Amino acid sequence: MNMEAFVLGCGGVMPLPGRHLTSVLLRREGELLLFDCGEGTQVSLRELNLRWKKISAIFISHTHADHVTGLPGMLMLSAQVDRSEPLYIIGPPRIKEFVDWARDVLEMYINYEIVVLEIENPRAGGVVYRGDGFAVRSVPLNHTRTCVGYVLEEDDRPGVFHPERAIEAGVPRGPLWARLQQGEPVTLENGAVVQPDTVVGPRRPGRKFSFITDSLHRKDLAAEVAGSDLLICEGMFHSEFRETAHEKKHMTAADAAELAAAAGGVRQMGLIHYSPRYADWQLKLLLKDAKPIFPNTFLTRDRQAIELPYRDQ
Ligand SMILES: [Zn+2]
Ligand SMILES: [Zn+2]
Repeated sequence: MNMEAFVLGCGGVMPLPGRHLTSVLLRREGELLLFDCGEGTQVSLRELNLRWKKISAIFISHTHADHVTGLPGMLMLSAQVDRSEPLYIIGPPRIKEFVDWARDVLEMYINYEIVVLEIENPRAGGVVYRGDGFAVRSVPLNHTRTCVGYVLEEDDRPGVFHPERAIEAGVPRGPLWARLQQGEPVTLENGAVVQPDTVVGPRRPGRKFSFITDSLHRKDLAAEVAGSDLLICEGMFHSEFRETAHEKKHMTAADAAELAAAAGGVRQMGLIHYSPRYADWQLKLLLKDAKPIFPNTFLTRDRQAIELPYRDQ
């Protein structure tokens, strides 16, 4: 099953030429999920030419303008595609107010159902969305207004089936193999019972995607993002502006790297939400700030695609 992340915008605060505001699209076997929706999101989506049909859910971290101003445009764009399922918008308190206001004042033409779910207790965290084979939970962050991160975790997959072991155990090829693969014991003609774990390996973990912006580095975040196949994390400033960053409740690139390193099992981390003070050619400073602490760090760029393969592939 394919899983890919597309960076629709990597900037923070204000858009720059070639750098839209924060937004990441996750495509999982044709299903699309959007994380934040800054200005320019729909432009990147068009430029990527994904032949997109519909987004199932949009997850909003907080109601600062650089994370939500793309939303009215995305809602209008979504009226251009056929859809019968509702579009879910999930976010902290006031997101419903923002969506209702935009729909009302802009007198939007919307030909589908929009369901806005405000996270009741953003400080507690918990599952906010369940899809087919995965769940998304919110994670409390520490910012100048109520803000949450999101972690998507796939369900475990069945273990690997070993045909040679099935033959050895005397199970004839056919429907009994399928039942064993589904984890059921089977009874042979001679009355012997074969347990699934004799022919099927242990269940295999699914993949994990984490999206963390905007926040001060919190120690408890490490446990939340541990084992991420891809961690997208704010790295707004170089450490030389550490004090400014922390005053404004943002992370430096080094803070993001410390989080990834402390978490353990993070396969790769992409920095996002760059301060507009850094021109594109200066972003390598942020990479230099992070890499000594977490070597598998990269700089996200608009319209970049990142694959998330299974670890056992
Ligand atoms: Zn921001
Ligand atoms: Zn913010």
